[in-house]
Amino acid sequence: MKRDVLKTRFRAEEIPRFPCPHCEGRLRLAGEVKIHRSAATAWIANQAWSDIAQIEDEFHTALICESAECGQVVGMMGAVRYLADHEAGGSLAVELLEPKTFFPAPALIAIPNNTPPSVIREIRNAFSIAWIDPNAAAHRLQVSAEYIMDDFGIPEIVSGQRMTVDRRISLFGETNMAARTHADTFSALRTLGDSRAHGGEVDWPTLLDAFEIFESALEDLYGDKANMVAAAHKRLSDFARHARSNDGPQSGPPPAKPVMLREPQDEQDRGAPIRGREWPLGGLRNPVTGEPFASEAEAQAALAGEAASVPRESRWPAGVRKFGRT
Ligand SMILES: [Zn+2]
Repeated sequence: MKRDVLKTRFRAEEIPRFPCPHCEGRLRLAGEVKIHRSAATAWIANQAWSDIAQIEDEFHTALICESAECGQVVGMMGAVRYLADHEAGGSLAVELLEPKTFFPAPALIAIPNNTPPSVIREIRNAFSIAWIDPNAAAHRLQVSAEYIMDDFGIPEIVSGQRMTVDRRISLFGETNMAARTHADTFSALRTLGDSRAHGGEVDWPTLLDAFEIFESALEDLYGDKANMVAAAHKRLSDFARHARSNDGPQSGPPPAKPVMLREPQDEQDRGAPIRGREWPLGGLRNPVTGEPFASEAEAQAALAGEAASVPRESRWPAGVRKFGRT
């Protein structure tokens, strides 16, 4: 995260070099900053009693990526506020731009290539509403964390009962593909995403903190290193399964000997191991009864069986759907 440039207020001549939405380049001003004053604001500005701090204009401008190969253009709109410049005797005003919306929005964090599309979509939604509504952006991060639960095969319904998000996060922390810290990260995001419901407001530095820890969790779960380790795990378990099956009557063609830490060779290498269905479930407990599962088959049946029969949309809490998720 390029935190130093992610500002909410700045002078027109000091526009931060926001990250490009499309590449790793930075944005720069592409033309001029156009400032508009409404008739109502002009009337206020003309009154003897008016204070410069009461004036709020609107601006729009275009930014462009500095990378010649990219050239992405981004529209930026927002409010203009004025501060009396006391050093200049209070007669001059300092003009400050407060962006409210960008299109397309700058990339606040890096998203690994192997991240599932549903998760990417929600993170980008969070980018685009971050400046105008940090609360809503925090909620989007929470929704994308729930999509990560889906991707890792964490069920929403177990033995006919709907899991709470907290319970799903806890289950996620018990799997051997996630660390306890990832579950803690998603728990923190969940609390933050619900803060509006509890009457709290998410401020800008807190939102950036949330993006930052989310970025590090994404890198752990979907970054290149995560995929290489997961692919190596799968090759080892394939090899072990083949070795066991050699003791029995049937044997297929021998799988390749596991090679550790090579680059992922193809789409299957990259994608397959990280999808949750193949995880060993032996360490899991039944979330309803709290008892350990007697066998992997029982765990699979309890965790996967019923979730699949419920329409996807109806399995989400009402609070998620009202934001128009598709
Ligand atoms: Zn670019």
